[in-house]
Amino acid sequence: MCSAGVDETIIHRFWDCGPSQHVWGFVSVQLGKLTQPDESNGWPLANWKQALFGHRTPRRYRRVGKLWLLLRSIAIWNIWIARNDKVFNQVTWSKEKMEQTV
Ligand SMILES: [Zn+2]
Repeated sequence: MCSAGVDETIIHRFWDCGPSQHVWGFVSVQLGKLTQPDESNGWPLANWKQALFGHRTPRRYRRVGKLWLLLRSIAIWNIWIARNDKVFNQVTWSKEKMEQTV
């Protein structure tokens, strides 16, 4: 399913693949906007263990733990349903659709 031809592993699908990285970047920007509206750059991107599994969440993210949990869940769900739309309906989501769905 990867446009770069990479085998579909869990880590690749949910983290490394371009559309997934776009979703995580978008989520970090939204987290910044929701918590610190004056900062326009968003928060530094968590690593894959922190984003996918909540492993050793950075202190900055722990302070907004419920919001981070919600955004992590939304990102993972969004990546999953976009993947399934491509697999089962041959529909590739644009970056705009990914952002709107998030
Ligand atoms: Zn890929």
